Amino acid sequence: MSQNGNLLNYVNGAWQKSSAGNYGKVLNPATAEVLSNVPLSPGSEVDVAVQAANKAFGEWRRMPVGDRIQFLFKFKNLLETNLDAIARTITNEAGKTYNESVGEMRRGIENVEVACGMPVLIQGINNEDIASGIDEHMFRQPLGVVAAITPFNFPGMIPLWFLPYAVATGNCFILKPSEKVPMTSQKLFELINEAGFPAGVLQLVNGGKETVDALLDHPSVRAISFVGSTPVAKYIYSRATANGKRAQCQGGAKNPVVIMPDADMDTTTRIMGDSAFGCAGQRCLAASVAITVGEAKNSFTEAMADVATSRKVGYGLDSGIQMGPVITNESKTRIENLINVGAQEGANVLVDGRNHTVGGYEDGYFIFPTILDNVKIFGPVLSLMHANTIDEAIALVNNRAYGNMACLFTSSGSAARKFRYEADAGNVGINIGVAAPMAYFPFSGWNDSFFGDLHAQSRHGVEFYTQTKVVVERWPQEWSRQF
Ligand code: NAD
Repeated sequence: MSQNGNLLNYVNGAWQKSSAGNYGKVLNPATAEVLSNVPLSPGSEVDVAVQAANKAFGEWRRMPVGDRIQFLFKFKNLLETNLDAIARTITNEAGKTYNESVGEMRRGIENVEVACGMPVLIQGINNEDIASGIDEHMFRQPLGVVAAITPFNFPGMIPLWFLPYAVATGNCFILKPSEKVPMTSQKLFELINEAGFPAGVLQLVNGGKETVDALLDHPSVRAISFVGSTPVAKYIYSRATANGKRAQCQGGAKNPVVIMPDADMDTTTRIMGDSAFGCAGQRCLAASVAITVGEAKNSFTEAMADVATSRKVGYGLDSGIQMGPVITNESKTRIENLINVGAQEGANVLVDGRNHTVGGYEDGYFIFPTILDNVKIFGPVLSLMHANTIDEAIALVNNRAYGNMACLFTSSGSAARKFRYEADAGNVGINIGVAAPMAYFPFSGWNDSFFGDLHAQSRHGVEFYTQTKVVVERWPQEWSRQF
């Protein structure tokens, strides 16, 4: 929802014009065209939203969970019927292909479906006669007002990693989406409005650092969910927890994939093409380093170069396009500089994606698939490293700060088991290029890819958004009227 091209916030059940003095520009990365202006909302607007959420919380938490999820069922149906429009919005502001945009929404919608199972998921535990005549129960109760701060690369899916669990468990939720891609959230909130959630239960406040800091410092915000780059994840985690809040902060990644010589190279390179170059390499689960073992060095390298050069790059709404632009001109320059540095430091630029343009989209922020061979650093393009044994390859996998994902391609069960057991990463793939946990599992980043205890999605989401209350009770017969 916008007024004269300026996006609105959704606060207390209505679209509201921000009083922001500053607006950012939302650009289509394929065309560099300005799509809208996004308000960088001041802290005072966060306070208004938190107060509305606090007010709504009293009734929302008392509503039976079976009634709360009826709003999510409506929301899920609206997401299905509006899938095409949402996917087009994602492609236009984030640059991914139409199919990638539909794919991310499917993964997001799964989370709404899982949260619709909240009447079962939220059940507590109990013991009768924990001591003689004494029963003990554990209930899960909502926290109150919670908030999420989300990144540019999955504008539809990532808000849905949090929002459905937060409200199904009885909390009131505030979203601060990435100011680079705020238009997808506008679409989500148009549907939230249509689904009829009570005022104050779900709110959208656009903005940047000042808006985030107001959420981190507000005494009534009880929990913060964050996804973005590692330096910001660390900052948010420390500031939120210093203020006594729960925090789950997912950070950046550079994901290694090990290729054994016995892997089926056709399948492996096809899957690796999607992992490394899908979503223009901007997935947090993109393969960024391929580590070949033994003779895979030759067979994989050649086939992978073919896959990279044949990928069709362009505007994501045009048919047959397999890869869109990167998000901003600054990202394009930064990635090109990293390739330059890699080349200067002795890497062989096997496939060079620099200095290409797409006809009709000369202003777009395009970088074509790039492969650097023999690099000693992890880069934002597919880098190749070579090992002699699986132990050497696993040592390379584990010798890094991040731990979002590690994958192995092989036809050997024992190599697969060894890798699964020893890889130092929270999401592991065997013959899988993007090991993204489905909504029924937690999204388990480790090390510098995650700060906190409980991850996004599924049961972790339920635990994160609830506090446990244990009740110990005794009802001696002699105290009650006898029947
Ligand atoms: P980012 O860290 O720049 O921004 C993320 C959010 O934080 C945005 O909403 C932004 O407004 C806010 N923000 C940015 N700087 C801030 C500051 N100094 N203080 C307070 N708030 C601030 O990330 P991005 O560029 O939007 O997203 C890409 C990053 O996200 C990549 O590093 C990617 O790997 C990571 N990511 C991780 C996962 C995961 O599951 N671990 C998933 C998706 C993306």
